[in-house]
Amino acid sequence: MKNDEYQKKYSLLKKEIEKIGFISTGSVFSVSKTCGNPNCRCHKDESARHGPYNIWTRKVRAKTITRTLTDEQAIFCRECIQNMRKLEGILTEMRNISVQFVENYQNTPTAKKK
Ligand SMILES: [Zn+2]
Repeated sequence: MKNDEYQKKYSLLKKEIEKIGFISTGSVFSVSKTCGNPNCRCHKDESARHGPYNIWTRKVRAKTITRTLTDEQAIFCRECIQNMRKLEGILTEMRNISVQFVENYQNTPTAKKK
């Protein structure tokens, strides 16, 4: 590849990043729970458990942060997590192109061999 081809590929990837919305780490899943009342049906009957609740977990400095989300938040949060994966994919490509570019880098255009 020539210098300008690297640059072209690279700027295309940068444009892809521009299209990406909000991002998030972690994962969202739904769980049904038993409650604190020992007489409640939820303790005997699995189908009577409370929920489902949308649980979002993510790691921050080796600690797991857990939040309960509304359905709307959960949908949006899943989108953010997908965006994060997309972004990471693009960054990996940008890094790979950069590595190739460094390895093939020629200081001055006139020094290029034909
Ligand atoms: Zn209960």
